[in-house]
Amino acid sequence: MRVLLVEDDESIAEPLADGLSRYGITTHRVGTGAQALSAPPADFVLLDLGLPDIDGIDVCRRLRETSDVPIIMLTARGDETDRVLGLEIGADDYMPKPFSTRELVARMRAIGRRARTPDPVSSGLGPLTIDERTRQARLHGEVLPLTPKEYQLLALLAADPGAVVDRRRILETVWQPNFFGRGKTLDFHVATLRRKLGDPRWIENRRGVGFRLVVPAAGA
Ligand code: CA
Repeated sequence: MRVLLVEDDESIAEPLADGLSRYGITTHRVGTGAQALSAPPADFVLLDLGLPDIDGIDVCRRLRETSDVPIIMLTARGDETDRVLGLEIGADDYMPKPFSTRELVARMRAIGRRARTPDPVSSGLGPLTIDERTRQARLHGEVLPLTPKEYQLLALLAADPGAVVDRRRILETVWQPNFFGRGKTLDFHVATLRRKLGDPRWIENRRGVGFRLVVPAAGA
């Protein structure tokens, strides 16, 4: 596994890279956001939020525009707003500093397991098709501009069209089990997904239970 470590503080980056190497993990170290954005693709990104040039949150957002590589934010204590924002824009988890390499590796493995869990195979529903190989959803043949989380949410609902998927299962599948404030985030993603689908009726809300995907009745 090849990890991109974005950290400007040498006193953190160096021992961390050493520690990771003991787990057989190769790190590519950079100290600025600009270097992070131009670095070759990695299997994993460890991202300090306090960088000297670009805000770590912006780095995260820009990485997410082109890639669904797992991202763990390395955060200072008191960065709660940034942590929540980072998770909402697609980071997979965060590690508050200081942390042990062992704990970090455990979290990386947990995220890796989730990433490898095969997505349910689905052909879609009516005019909506889900392509698991390219991780794209199309509506009437047009690719929907979805973020990785929106795609995962839609693919999960489309895996069993018409069935109600409960909120807990969605949260556990698409977000982190320890993700604070994720209920609101789920509702936010449902709202943006409905907007992109062009009709709110695509995603039916069973209040207090969960959501289901249905083809909106024609003519309305
Ligand atoms: Ca820093």
